[in-house]
Amino acid sequence: MKKTLCILLVISILLLAGCSKAEPETADALLSDYLSRVESFEGVIHQYGEEESRVLFGEKLVATVLFPETGIEELDIAIKKYIDDTIASAQVDSASKELQESAELLIAYNSYFNRNDVVSVELKGTYSDSTLAHPIDMTETFSADIESGKLLKIDDLLKKGKREEAEKKLIDEFGIDREFNPGDLLRCWVLAEDSLKIILTRGEFLPMSDGTKTYTFTQKETKELLQDSKADESVAANQNKEETTVPVEAEKVNIDINKPMLALTFDDGPSAHTQRLLDIFKKYGGKGTFFVLGNTLDNRKETLKRIAFEGHEIGNHSWSHRQFTNIDIDEVKDQIMMTRAKIYDITGVDCTIVRPPYGACNDEIRALGKEIGVTFVNWSVDTLDWKTKNADAVYKEIIKDAGDGHIILCHDLHKTTVDAMEKVIPALIGEGYQLVTVSELLTCRGGEIEVGRMYYKQVEG
Ligand code: ZN
Repeated sequence: MKKTLCILLVISILLLAGCSKAEPETADALLSDYLSRVESFEGVIHQYGEEESRVLFGEKLVATVLFPETGIEELDIAIKKYIDDTIASAQVDSASKELQESAELLIAYNSYFNRNDVVSVELKGTYSDSTLAHPIDMTETFSADIESGKLLKIDDLLKKGKREEAEKKLIDEFGIDREFNPGDLLRCWVLAEDSLKIILTRGEFLPMSDGTKTYTFTQKETKELLQDSKADESVAANQNKEETTVPVEAEKVNIDINKPMLALTFDDGPSAHTQRLLDIFKKYGGKGTFFVLGNTLDNRKETLKRIAFEGHEIGNHSWSHRQFTNIDIDEVKDQIMMTRAKIYDITGVDCTIVRPPYGACNDEIRALGKEIGVTFVNWSVDTLDWKTKNADAVYKEIIKDAGDGHIILCHDLHKTTVDAMEKVIPALIGEGYQLVTVSELLTCRGGEIEVGRMYYKQVEG
């Protein structure tokens, strides 16, 4: 039997290997423009808790909800209740309307750990559907004392008589002239960077046109307003781990194009579970493709570098999981390019494969892909892992539908999916499949990867 090694593969390995920060010429003018903007695009702070998610893909409503699991029971119960209630009311709302396109609910979060005693969580969301002139903004905040595990209200932290002083600051700053109940103005608050931050949700105290506003007290003002932290003195400052260097050489893989191959792909990460998935690949062999979200990357730099370093492929899954077919084309460009710039900034890899959130794409978006030099990749096997959240179900789904040239959709956001991979990866290898990256699959099975095209699988040889 004739055995041919896929030479093109070497090129993709070289691409991974060669894109260190020392070679700025690999970032074209387009990329460098976005690199300069990425810092200010959307800062996400995850200082506490493990990321959890709820994903809905209904006919009337699509929803992506990210929230932290903090391990502080009262806090986790309150967060989950808010999430459940919000999803339920979005379902009721969207079901009652005649919608051309499904409504969209997106919730993301920031989590903070401050003064060694307070954990704060800020949930920020939007709900949009075609009947609304503007998306509805949502903000909710929760804080807890780490020692007692009790939820905190702002009055638990404010020194006596300081509430009016804090409220006056906001009234003066924003020119608030609406009536409000005592305490309402300070209802949404977090402690961030040892500063008290107040969030006024769009339309709550100010005209809708003003949008959602935040006011951050300086650290000095915060110290004057709040009681001292009991834990502050007793705990040493957090030590920052030194960052490892940018990968310089990815692992080499040989692929036999005469043998069956398929691509396992993982969306919505990197997450707290991704490192374990990389361990599983390391143990059994094979490579995967990770379609990452730009707004998670600051918190998962080491994981992202490891993905590249160990010869897996990084794909682009947008900045904040917006459905591309629901937003302006300029916004789609931002979603793709900001993420591309961020990936390049962290790993030195210029990643040009894009999986649009929910797989939603159209001619206009494909034309944009051609213009900016990216290729779209959906899937041929949907594991529905986000729905079943059951390792056994994911395993069965993959084994049932696996075939040469297939692209399999999974989400490394879920623990259960990574659990499933403990069985899936050795089983597929045992059946004779080579687990390759998407670019390896497309090159080995189809030849040159076409920019602007949408791929689902690649079986022609
Ligand atoms: Zn996704």
